[in-house]
Amino acid sequence: MTYPDNILFKVAKPARYTGGEWNSIVKDWCEADVRIAISYPDLYEIGMSNMALPILYRMLNSQPDVLAERVFAPWPDMAEAIRDAEIPLLSLESGRQLKDFDVIGFSLGYELTFTNVLNILHLSQIPVFSAERDDSHPLVIAGGSCALNPEPMADFIDLFVIGEVEEVITQLVSCFRSWRRNKLSKREVLLQTAAIPGIYVPSLYGVEYQTGGSFKSITPISPQASPTIKRQIAAQLPLPVTDPVVPYIEVVHDRGAIEISRGCTRGCRFCNAGIIYRPVRLQPREAVLTAVDDIIASCGYDEVSLVSLSTGDYPDIEKLVNDIAVRYKKQNLNISLPSLRIDSELVKLVGSLSSHRKMGLTFAPEAGSRRLQQVINKCIPEEELVKTAAAAFERGWKTLKLYFMLGLPTETEEDVESIAQLVNKVHALGKNFPVRRPQIRVSLSTFIPKPHTPFQWAAQEDEQQLSTKHEIVRAGLRRKGIRLSWQEPKFSLLEAVLSRGDRRVGQAIHRAWQLGACFDGWSEHFSYEIWLKAFGETGIDPAFYANRQRPLDEPLPWGHIDTGISMDFLKREYQHAIEGKETPDCRNGACNACGLEKTAKPCIEKVAERKVGGKKISGGDRR
Ligand code: SF4
Repeated sequence: MTYPDNILFKVAKPARYTGGEWNSIVKDWCEADVRIAISYPDLYEIGMSNMALPILYRMLNSQPDVLAERVFAPWPDMAEAIRDAEIPLLSLESGRQLKDFDVIGFSLGYELTFTNVLNILHLSQIPVFSAERDDSHPLVIAGGSCALNPEPMADFIDLFVIGEVEEVITQLVSCFRSWRRNKLSKREVLLQTAAIPGIYVPSLYGVEYQTGGSFKSITPISPQASPTIKRQIAAQLPLPVTDPVVPYIEVVHDRGAIEISRGCTRGCRFCNAGIIYRPVRLQPREAVLTAVDDIIASCGYDEVSLVSLSTGDYPDIEKLVNDIAVRYKKQNLNISLPSLRIDSELVKLVGSLSSHRKMGLTFAPEAGSRRLQQVINKCIPEEELVKTAAAAFERGWKTLKLYFMLGLPTETEEDVESIAQLVNKVHALGKNFPVRRPQIRVSLSTFIPKPHTPFQWAAQEDEQQLSTKHEIVRAGLRRKGIRLSWQEPKFSLLEAVLSRGDRRVGQAIHRAWQLGACFDGWSEHFSYEIWLKAFGETGIDPAFYANRQRPLDEPLPWGHIDTGISMDFLKREYQHAIEGKETPDCRNGACNACGLEKTAKPCIEKVAERKVGGKKISGGDRR
């Protein structure tokens, strides 16, 4: 079952809503004990490129009595069509109404998809507020990186999975099973799930605020609720999904994706992922090679992507890539290596791969000056960037994309000027390639002080400050062959409020949605005016959440979420940042005692090993 033709014929790309794709799983509805609809709350083309959803889809559907189906956010033309026709939102596999499912699970990977969550619930004729849903409504759950500060969405979500779902899925599904079989009430199943490590049930906690208005505390109001919720860490990576659903329409990442490692310990102090996915876990080489074979056989892709936060750090990545390239020489398989660090050797490696797709190479220096690179702990010697760029141009790359951030803590005007100087040095290389002078694409984004990072206390700069800095870079880059793009800072200002907010921000999310906010991550739909109106009407001061420096002892709305990384480590790193002191990557050397040395298996083993080696471990150990 799916939507009637008179709906599908009038919307763009109806294949976003019809399902039936290769490798999609349609199970017998009546045979299933637990029925779960899973969603990445954005457009089909984005959601189908998300790495978490195929893992969840396989893990759930691999259980005989569990059925999992997908649903994504309908584009506004489709939302209007089904609203006008009073047809509720349907799942892709069986075309069932979402309100018929037992559970609706959202993967929250980007704050600017929050209003889409409310839209999906509303278009499914399900009350958006958790408190307004009774036993006749599905349980609404969420996970993903944004769940590490669950408070802004706490009024809409019944329970959050904090950390890696692989660790909790079995216990969670068994709770859902007993809920269905024993006809428990929603309250009873929430109390049961609250006892599972890594599960956060916001309704079992009370929130207090200081008289001045800032956040004070979150405390359990039920004995089943634990004061802190520990991030769940998979001891080892699950085997890659090698038979993902293959879309009929082009999606953002139209290729086979193999997760080769999870976690990164390079320690860039602005990077949330570098904290919430620690420690590093590797997919064994043989498992990667087998997965490449299987995904090509199962999906027919002519491109595979070796995915990780820092692909170049995978041990002997050159050999792995060469083995794959040799294995698939005849098929001319394209191997993409996203998130490559700036390294001329890696460029030579990528350069040796199939040549016909050398469109662009992307690097993220983030800061232009050495001083600021030490503050953010992402140090890339200028000569290495220039060498890497030269290696790329020599190997036929026509376009180099460089990412920088504006508004980083302690940033000075000189630091900003250094961005233009560095880009101009790379641009100058172009003269050695007169035939077709390489193009430099410079992309500026706005720093967001994210929760659980060493910069979680820092203030975000306001629009005026950022515009001034943008102007400095723009003035320094007026040259042929350099194109500058600047992500509209309002996106990042909103993202800062939604990622650093407390539970009160939920009211503004709801009001903004009522006022028409949806697809906030898309410039054609984003309206900052709607959000300013919503903030005004709900008494939320965005500057209070985004542009305010927080004292190191101020209670944080996400303080009850324990990522395993100690507050001491984060404060130490914050201090190092202010002093411009680097912290080496523990992957190649001593443990920096980030807090996981007490809890995470790989780290405990690492520390024990070094102990065995008779060398005393200290956080500040310099290599
Ligand atoms: S505990 Fe030590 S080894 Fe493990 S991630 Fe943290 S700093 Fe690295």
